[in-house]
Amino acid sequence: MTNKPNNKLSIRTVSGIINSVETLEGEGFLVHRPFPTYALSDFDPFLLLDEMGPKDLGPGEAKGAPDHPHRGFETVTYMLEGKMQHKDSQGHAGKLTPGDVQWMTAGAGVVHSEMPEQGFARNGGRLHGFQLWVNLPSGDKMMRPRYQEIPAADIPIGRNADGSVTVKVIAGESLGVKAVIETRTPIIYLHFTLQPGAVVLQPVPADYNGFAYVVSGAGKFGPDAERVVRGQMVMFAQDGETVTIRNSATATEPLSVLLIAGVPLNEPIARYGPFVMNTREEIHQAVEDYRNGRMGEISF
Ligand code: FE
Repeated sequence: MTNKPNNKLSIRTVSGIINSVETLEGEGFLVHRPFPTYALSDFDPFLLLDEMGPKDLGPGEAKGAPDHPHRGFETVTYMLEGKMQHKDSQGHAGKLTPGDVQWMTAGAGVVHSEMPEQGFARNGGRLHGFQLWVNLPSGDKMMRPRYQEIPAADIPIGRNADGSVTVKVIAGESLGVKAVIETRTPIIYLHFTLQPGAVVLQPVPADYNGFAYVVSGAGKFGPDAERVVRGQMVMFAQDGETVTIRNSATATEPLSVLLIAGVPLNEPIARYGPFVMNTREEIHQAVEDYRNGRMGEISF
């Protein structure tokens, strides 16, 4: 960790607060989506953030996303509650249980299914998780697909000196702890829990574009301590090298918050459903390649 003087000028200001929109995804499961929405199309280099649930599901109610393709970006799935199972055209299959992370680099193309795990679907339970889409630079869009599947026990956890802050380090570095996941471009993906009265001062280099999403509780963000509540996204200006997050001393619950940042690609975005490329021609090619089976199929 860098130990820079706590220069107030280096603290990032809040450039906007976005309410997530409730929508249905896949076969009809509830997501809270801060972007893309009418208010915000993307947050370079990020293309989408979906919060799955949180929702209590009865027996047989869980739904998923059957076979569908992706090309040109990465999908990052982080489960908090509930169980999913996935399969894909590369022959991969696996389960995601609470705390697990799947970082899938779709690259040139993958067809996959993201479904509730059978036992979870049968018995019901609480579903809560996140999917983030990370754009790939033009030179990586057609790379070979790659998976990084990290079980909860292998996600590094940092703690501050008095234990009032814990952080799961999915990408990047926090409180002296480094992530095990490798990213194509520099990305920070941190899940903080702040007890009442706790403060985080997280270094975020000046060239990163960053935002936070409040998972539960309410927090105070930036030098003016703007209040942001569950289900809201707070965008930071690129005007400093530190992000500040506080949980009020009078709060009645911990603050759970994702802090996500990356270096913007500053490239044109052509997107059509599950394909995100740089030009319309590349999108047409992606649709044609998918239709002709060049992204494969799930055959097991
Ligand atoms: Fe998918």
